[in-house]
Amino acid sequence: MSDLIRLTNLTVTYERHPAVHHVSGTFRTGSLTAIAGPNGAGKSTLLKAIIGELRPAEGSIDRGTLTRNDFGYLPQAADINRRFPISVADTVMLGAWKTSGAFGRFSRQDADRARDALSHVGLSGFENRHIGALSAGQFQRVLFARLLLQDASVILLDEPFTAIDQRTTRDLLDLVLRWHKEGRTVIAVLHDFDQVRAHFPETLLIARELVDWSRTQEAMSSSNLLKARAMAERWDEAAEACLPEDEPHTGEIARREPAE
Ligand code: ADP
Ligand code: MG
Repeated sequence: MSDLIRLTNLTVTYERHPAVHHVSGTFRTGSLTAIAGPNGAGKSTLLKAIIGELRPAEGSIDRGTLTRNDFGYLPQAADINRRFPISVADTVMLGAWKTSGAFGRFSRQDADRARDALSHVGLSGFENRHIGALSAGQFQRVLFARLLLQDASVILLDEPFTAIDQRTTRDLLDLVLRWHKEGRTVIAVLHDFDQVRAHFPETLLIARELVDWSRTQEAMSSSNLLKARAMAERWDEAAEACLPEDEPHTGEIARREPAE
């Protein structure tokens, strides 16, 4: 597998407070990676940095030849405003921006593809519903239909199964695994460790700093999980990032190459 996205000493801050600190490593083309870590560990921040929504305060993200259109991104549910007056079909068609342009009109073809995508996620006939009238699981199905339509080669999912019913979780997890089989690169923030162990070959375990980034079995060892929790307990919310003008940081932890 070739390197696709390379993080080098990546630090992302909010008002100089580091949310992601000194993270290095590589996502390979076609890899399926879980991002795990305690609340406030910087998982969502890391995804936003990868898609370019947040800029590094230090370090860099090398995306090679990828452009914004190559990324499909599902934000954490809390970040999505469902009161926006928009129909299910229009929400899905927003995934077709790549072909119609942000302000272009949706074509008949877009509408057909949206209907197909909705039927794929079990929501045939929901086209004209208002998104505010859906259950959490149905709404997540809509957002997955949008990702289907977008047809991105790199897919980032932020807690896609949190507060979602079991049946929907199973259906959407199947879609994720299919994307992986199709050779897409998938990165998902997850909190269900059993799910991570069962389905995700690689795990990036983060507690603002990287705890481990390797094969899931190694990354999710009990000693690593204890270490992540201990790091979370030590967080000083007022601490500032050591940025380039400060002392150079030497304790960087990098992604480990998996043992063959
Ligand atoms: P996770 O997704 O792992 O729970 P986040 O990336 O959301 O963690 O947050 C990491 C840290 O950054 C937390 O301390 C959080 O409070 C802080 N943070 C996140 N978003 C913002 C923001 N928009 N402004 C200020 N601080 C933020
Ligand atoms: Mg988060």
